[in-house]
Amino acid sequence: MIITENIQKLLSEIPGNVKLIAVSKTKPAEQIVEVYNFGHKIFGENRAQELSEKFKLLPKDIEWHMIGHLQTNKVKYIAPFVYLIHGVDSFKLLQFIDKEAAKCNRIINCLLQFHIAKEETKFGFDMNESSQMLGSSDFGLLQNINIVGVMGMATLTENTQLVSDEFRELVYIFNQLKKTYFSDKTDFKEISMGMSGDYKIAIEEGATMVRIGSLIFGER
Ligand SMILES: *Cc1c(COP(=O)(O)O)cnc(C)c1O
Repeated sequence: MIITENIQKLLSEIPGNVKLIAVSKTKPAEQIVEVYNFGHKIFGENRAQELSEKFKLLPKDIEWHMIGHLQTNKVKYIAPFVYLIHGVDSFKLLQFIDKEAAKCNRIINCLLQFHIAKEETKFGFDMNESSQMLGSSDFGLLQNINIVGVMGMATLTENTQLVSDEFRELVYIFNQLKKTYFSDKTDFKEISMGMSGDYKIAIEEGATMVRIGSLIFGER
């Protein structure tokens, strides 16, 4: 029952306007059910096939978030049911999502991922790349995707000042995009940032969604 206690504690700490995504990657369905039975129904996974398997096994009112790097050829596994795709990091991927969403007669909500960390390995747009895409006529043709905000991951470090600077940069990017491309779009409002190690800083800086795995389910 430790998992239930963990999520209860987190929910009591997190402000009501911040959505908690329980990151269940690599964890078995039974552990997800434990959280579900407690009453929390929002989960995140980072691999498309694992997500699709868990979707089949588990209750259909779960809100599933795809939080990891998504390859274009894997979009089809999640397009029929995914609630939000956090890691959109190229126009090519967005076109694939649009195409698969159309096949399912859906509009899929997406976040643009930005590279805010000092580390080389993290995926994401920079400001120029995203502006180029959002300003292009090809982007205007996509009808089955809905961009609802931004996502980012901070550097893995003990340096809390660096982490808050990076989150602040993501908020700045969000505000710029909002002003320039989404000023009349009320559903462009999400900032997905913060994990087990840095969610408190992320919330201070303005996160609307936090993605937390190990603090709930234990180490992977
Ligand atoms: C695994 C993962 C998380 C959760 O990480 P924890 O440190 O276990 O909370 C959050 N976001 C992404 C993109 C992840 O891949």
